[in-house]
Amino acid sequence: MFQSEYLKKVYAGVEARNPGEKEFLQAVREVLESLEPVVAANPKLEEQGVLERIVEPERQIFFRVSWVDDKGQVQVNRGYRVQFNSAIGPYKGGIRLHPSVNASVIKFLGFEQIFKNSLTGLPIGGGKGGSDFDPKGKSDLEIMRFCQSFMTELAKHIGADTDVPAGDIGTGAREIGYMYGQYKRLRNEFTGVLTGKGLTYGGSLARTEATGYGLCYFVDEMLRCMKNESFKGKTAVISGSGNVAIYANQKATELGAKVVAMSDSNGYVYDPKGIDLAVIKQIKEVERGRIKEYVNRVQGAEYHEGCSGIWTVKCDIALPCATQNEINEASAKALVANGVIAVGEGANMPSTPEAIAVFQSAGVLFAPAKAANAGGVATSALEMSQNSQRLSWTFEEVDAKLKNIMVNIFHNAYNAAEKYGMKGNLVAGANIAGFEKVAGAMLAQGIAY
Ligand code: NDP
Repeated sequence: MFQSEYLKKVYAGVEARNPGEKEFLQAVREVLESLEPVVAANPKLEEQGVLERIVEPERQIFFRVSWVDDKGQVQVNRGYRVQFNSAIGPYKGGIRLHPSVNASVIKFLGFEQIFKNSLTGLPIGGGKGGSDFDPKGKSDLEIMRFCQSFMTELAKHIGADTDVPAGDIGTGAREIGYMYGQYKRLRNEFTGVLTGKGLTYGGSLARTEATGYGLCYFVDEMLRCMKNESFKGKTAVISGSGNVAIYANQKATELGAKVVAMSDSNGYVYDPKGIDLAVIKQIKEVERGRIKEYVNRVQGAEYHEGCSGIWTVKCDIALPCATQNEINEASAKALVANGVIAVGEGANMPSTPEAIAVFQSAGVLFAPAKAANAGGVATSALEMSQNSQRLSWTFEEVDAKLKNIMVNIFHNAYNAAEKYGMKGNLVAGANIAGFEKVAGAMLAQGIAY
């Protein structure tokens, strides 16, 4: 629990104002706990109410999304956009389309995004959006009608210099395309209002790969600097089989690891020879099918029903790339018992606080999501730069910038932890390094009376 009376008061206020929002409270608590030494050293934070302000979104927009399905029936979903903090740049963060989406989930993601975006070193504020719409099993036309209806309302609140959404779970290139088309129709302007766009209409090379690649660049730097190790010769397990997981697999393999397991929300596949990524891409990206299909196409592979079993597969490096709270204490203990040396979070908040404690007390190198998966949003910011310049950079240029950003994020988080007496604790270091820049900007910009 908190030592500082100020932090106790701030957290009690968040609990009172956001009852039952467990994901949001979990995310706030983790950040505030890391800030103990920062608050002790900087009385101005309390004097100017910086923490009370940073935990309250600047603006929250909840809206009705009605659309007509293929049977002619009216469907109603709820849309969300939480514009959390614009101290250092326009709001920026993805759009999640998943039945589990609610205010707590979007607020936790938006809150995390503030610090993640700050860590990239680029001028982007924090936001997040989404809907409880389930894209699974929908036809292309249904997806298009939903996206158009969603954007019809969202367009009133976003803009290239105001708020720039992107993809997330359930929102890939297809959905971004439909949303972009609708925005353009409504506003009659061709601007960089969304990122993750197709390459023919303003998208950036390497954006698709960026989160997974960035995760591996971060983990590689962490392994080198903190353990004199690398991916070479290591066995890895990656949960999920979506955008982040697929490109994390690609880069980890390129760096010399063997990825032996991947999953989706039904179960996981284990392939002792190393997952054949081309087969996964065909099933998930082209056919939009289920991962269990893998065992019908690759000899010697096994399928196991249920997601959490993947953490019982023996590995040196674990990369959770599916969703929040997918590694609990029991899964963390199973990983440690099997000798894991590093965990890198590709998904947002995939480890519960209890799981993180297990990793930290076992001396496992732990790369927290805010830092380790920032490559996606960093490359989105590079897409914004290219759109503003009306230029396209090469894949190599973008990838080199991405790598540089991830290496810098590692060192900034590492150094911030060391500065405040928590050497090696990248959870605290990432929170502090991300916070200091945003807090500085908030202090400089004054309080609105
Ligand atoms: P995708 O929709 O492309 O893939 C998500 C993957 O996770 C799928 O394999 C999906 O399985 C699985 N999954 C989703 N929800 C659950 C669940 N409740 N339980 C178990 N498995 C689940 O999403 P992304 O790859 O883009 O995102 C994955 C994670 O990475 C998210 O936490 C996201 O916030 C985070 N992230 C994404 C970024 C990006 O650039 N895309 C940037 C930074 C973070 P199924 O197919 O069965 O649904």
